[in-house]
Amino acid sequence: MTLLTFRFAPSPNGELHLGHAYSALLNQKMAAQAGGRLLLRIEDIDITRCTPQFETGIFRDLEWLGLRWEAPVRRQSEHFAEYRAVLDRLIAEELVYPAFMSRSEIRAFIAETGGRDWPRDPDGVPLYPPLDKALPARERKRRLAENMPFAWRLDVEAATARLAAGLSWLEFADETMSATRAIEAQPQAWGDVIVARRDIPTSYHLAVVLDDALQGVSHVVRGQDLYSATGVQRLLQELLGLSPPRYFHHRLILGPDGRKLSKSFKDTGLAALREAGVSPQDVKRLLGL
Ligand code: GLU
Repeated sequence: MTLLTFRFAPSPNGELHLGHAYSALLNQKMAAQAGGRLLLRIEDIDITRCTPQFETGIFRDLEWLGLRWEAPVRRQSEHFAEYRAVLDRLIAEELVYPAFMSRSEIRAFIAETGGRDWPRDPDGVPLYPPLDKALPARERKRRLAENMPFAWRLDVEAATARLAAGLSWLEFADETMSATRAIEAQPQAWGDVIVARRDIPTSYHLAVVLDDALQGVSHVVRGQDLYSATGVQRLLQELLGLSPPRYFHHRLILGPDGRKLSKSFKDTGLAALREAGVSPQDVKRLLGL
């Protein structure tokens, strides 16, 4: 029998807060209940925002909380060659295209073309305009030869057209994992998402699906804020022939103002709580774990 495999996958672009503690401890609890494994993955592809100091802080905070994980820890920045190989497949299959518009160009284009009714993704960001997808091959080549900045975007229309049937994922109804339901994936809601940058051959979505598959992750337990992103990830799994894990998107820990915690929310930072004399047991009690 293969062991169930869980993972906690923080990004070292800030300090861990109570929301991360909940996610990490819930993964640990569910892995223990299932007699499974817990992996730790450092998601540091954003080399401008991720720092070794934040990474050190993550290890210190997780050890303090009593989290135990299997070695080795996978650090995404050490695997760019693997992401590049997968990206090259998507390029060869013409499922991605170079997108040249800057944020201000996107904004200007949308304002000119009717503005208000422009479709937005679940995070409220306007979808990428269809101009670059339709760029003549010669013009595309010319821009690339001129070293114009660009990002690789998924041609979501072409990608979904490849699917034999509809796309769904299995979501646990709660943390006991006793019931699942099939959720219809809606990758179109995000438009042509970025799957890689010019200088970084991956994005969050691409790295996550590849790593979950390579590491044999069977159960993805993460915050509700990533629920609809799962649609894009399911599509990438399908295009790359990766078998999908099951998912549980847990409740978010909210701040005193009722809003999602952010990395700049100092009061709920684990380091600050520790310095204020709060114990790991207090944290668990606070989180209802
Ligand atoms: N690295 C992501 C974050 O810190 C989590 C990714 C995931 O669990 O899929 O928000």
